Amino acid sequence: MAAIILDGTKIAAQIRAEVAEEVKTLAAAGMRPGLAVVLVGHNPASEVYVRGKVKACEEVGICSEKHTPSEHCTTAELLELVAKLNQRDEIDGILVQLPLPPQVDAKKVLLAVDPAKDVDGFHPMNVGLLSTQRPGLVPCTPAGIVEILKRSNIAIAGQEAVVVGRSDIVGKPVAMLLINGNATVTVCHSKTRDLPGVCRRADILVAAIGRAGMITRDYVKQGATVIDVGMNQVTDRAEFERLFAGNAKREETFRTKGSTLVGDVHPEVAQVAGAITPVPGGVGPLTIAMLMTNTVRAAKLRRESGELADV
Ligand code: NAP
Repeated sequence: MAAIILDGTKIAAQIRAEVAEEVKTLAAAGMRPGLAVVLVGHNPASEVYVRGKVKACEEVGICSEKHTPSEHCTTAELLELVAKLNQRDEIDGILVQLPLPPQVDAKKVLLAVDPAKDVDGFHPMNVGLLSTQRPGLVPCTPAGIVEILKRSNIAIAGQEAVVVGRSDIVGKPVAMLLINGNATVTVCHSKTRDLPGVCRRADILVAAIGRAGMITRDYVKQGATVIDVGMNQVTDRAEFERLFAGNAKREETFRTKGSTLVGDVHPEVAQVAGAITPVPGGVGPLTIAMLMTNTVRAAKLRRESGELADV
């Protein structure tokens, strides 16, 4: 039986509608959440992501402003900008779009963001708050994955979860969220022995690898929930055939655009899984929706009894 498709676009729209309601209530009480986005240089992918983030802010009623330092800017210049944003009370969230140019010390810049305004949840303070289950800001993509599971009534507690990938932005935080949700979690990476065997234990399998269609049906237990975080552009015809042979819609996209987007999970997995997120339209839309949630959360946390500062 074909898997249930977990529609991320629909879930993200629900979340954005909820955030818009909350922003309205806050505005009525005289609080308008504000997000500052820092986009350095002209990375085309980053420009697309930032445009999406600014547009989402407009839709839900969050104030947003974009800062666009040149691609030649220095670490010191970025630190100065972040320091100014940290000080401004009307700014609740600061997002420094990655990647930063090679001459910039990205870690230093991210560390300079006030943890209370760190809507990406990358600051070590927020990493610590997450791992000790205290109120803080959680990275958007992992938070979005948990929202997909919860809103699709997929149990987390007591389940075997396997996360493939251990990056600071996806793999590790999603593993932490699943542990906090009482799953039994295994984290895999490039040195894991018998990866297919470990993955087959999963009731919930999260693939955050960055390798087009690597997770084939051999990795998946019948009926498992599969969350595909990967976003890979396929441009090679042979690779396209391996993944999408016989798929007329994809063929049309590939022919007209010369590429198509694929996750880390092979499309054939939909025949084995119980539920699966599609690419595109799965995890991706949740990332921006959770950024909106985080910005409102940051606004509220900063105005409440200074919970972050008290820790
Ligand atoms: P990353 O930093 O490159 O991490 C990739 C992880 O996968 C690493 O832990 C790596 O292991 C592991 N890995 C690589 N090859 C492997 C293999 N053959 N077997 C087992 N593990 C392997 O990537 P990321 O930033 O976490 O992103 C992962 C994917 O998610 C990418 O496609 C990215 O575009 C996508 N993404 C999507 C969203 C969204 O909004 N949908 C957001 C963020 C990322 P080692 O640690 O041993 O090297």
